[in-house]
Amino acid sequence: MATKESVQDVALRPRRVKRSSGFVEEVFEIIRADIMSLRIPPDTRISIDNLARELGVSQTPIREALSMLEAIGLVTRRRFAGYCSAPQLNTRQLDELYELRLLIEPYAAARAAERMSAAQLEQIRELARTMEPGESRTSYDRFAVQDSELHDLIAGASGNHLIQDSLARLHAHLHIFRLRFHSDVTIEACSEHAALIDALTRRSPLEAEAAMRLHIEKSYKRMIPFAQD
Ligand SMILES: [Zn+2]
Repeated sequence: MATKESVQDVALRPRRVKRSSGFVEEVFEIIRADIMSLRIPPDTRISIDNLARELGVSQTPIREALSMLEAIGLVTRRRFAGYCSAPQLNTRQLDELYELRLLIEPYAAARAAERMSAAQLEQIRELARTMEPGESRTSYDRFAVQDSELHDLIAGASGNHLIQDSLARLHAHLHIFRLRFHSDVTIEACSEHAALIDALTRRSPLEAEAAMRLHIEKSYKRMIPFAQD
């Protein structure tokens, strides 16, 4: 018997999906790590059959994971070709991304230094402590995700939700880290984070702003040689 979904059911749906999607989440994370580490090269057709065989699962979780990856821009769906890994950012797209980050993030860091609660500061420090530079594919993917969380926490600590939302929508870290798979990227980022977190801990808006600006500028210099024209 078909039942009609009420407005309330629809509102509750994302929460239900989330609870039952641990398995899909795992498949999602494996494919994301493959894309982030370039094991699946950019702009390449992704075979659902092959992935299902390789991971020993049916096609359904693969399809679900791929549509989750499509939502964050790592996968595109093309007519006749099916799912493909997204092309890498070109120079112009990378320039635009960093230009926007430089407008938003140093400002957010300054406001966070002034406004964040002790609990927010502790959360930021705790996350930074768990970020270890690594050389494996999964550790690189994990670092990219944690880096994105760290910047999200600082944006959130600015107290301006619009700033936090605008930054989150860029999925900047996933696209940036995908340009270059190298442990130098994570080692350098870690030492820049340390300076940033120091300034936040001292609650110095000027120093936090400068440290965030420097971190973003250095990140740009690390990545720009790898962007396509
Ligand atoms: Zn960072």
